[in-house]
Amino acid sequence: MPTRRSLLAALTGLASAPASHADIVIDAPAARSSAAIRYWPVVTAREDWNVVSAAPDCLRLRCFSAPRPVSRLDNPTRRHVGVDLFARAGDAVVAIEDGRILNFYPFLRASTGEMSYALIVGHVGYVANYGEIRVTSLRDRGLSVGDVVQGGTEIGEISDTRQLHFETYTPSATRNSAWRYQDARPARVLDPTPLLLDLAAHGRRLLPGETAIAEPQ
Ligand SMILES: [Zn+2]
Repeated sequence: MPTRRSLLAALTGLASAPASHADIVIDAPAARSSAAIRYWPVVTAREDWNVVSAAPDCLRLRCFSAPRPVSRLDNPTRRHVGVDLFARAGDAVVAIEDGRILNFYPFLRASTGEMSYALIVGHVGYVANYGEIRVTSLRDRGLSVGDVVQGGTEIGEISDTRQLHFETYTPSATRNSAWRYQDARPARVLDPTPLLLDLAAHGRRLLPGETAIAEPQ
């Protein structure tokens, strides 16, 4: 007979498992950073700022490779290429490390009607999409495609989606890739989860009103 404790553990495990999407654990190469100093990309006062949704506890389907669209989980058409990080509308987004702005274009419409943008930044060894930020992100900060940015530099502002949708790609990418549900992972797509977990634990976190202090060269 199972003890009450083991029964409870089994039930709890069942409740937290993504039962109908057990296939969300996808084997994908991870984005890797070699920068000595790295920043958490969202400047927010939210208490859940460091939550990185990851399989098997794919919190509200915010994890990498989760089925999409969430309104049709019985018949998904694509997978979530990124990981969603909690934020407030208007929170600043900063570059994780030094990089170059490669692209900026319309990305996803928020439920409020606002068109959010994708900001593609090339870092050493990987390309990042700082996704779902405001159209004014670059203009308001005097930035343009082609500019070099330092780690910790403000590069954008969270849109009405109230999250940073963060994706990573191999170094040649200049746009995001869609991932059809039944297809293999697009070759350029990298799993951002290990990088984000490392940043949450060891990266520098800026709070609203703080700016990165330039390191001596
Ligand atoms: Zn997302």
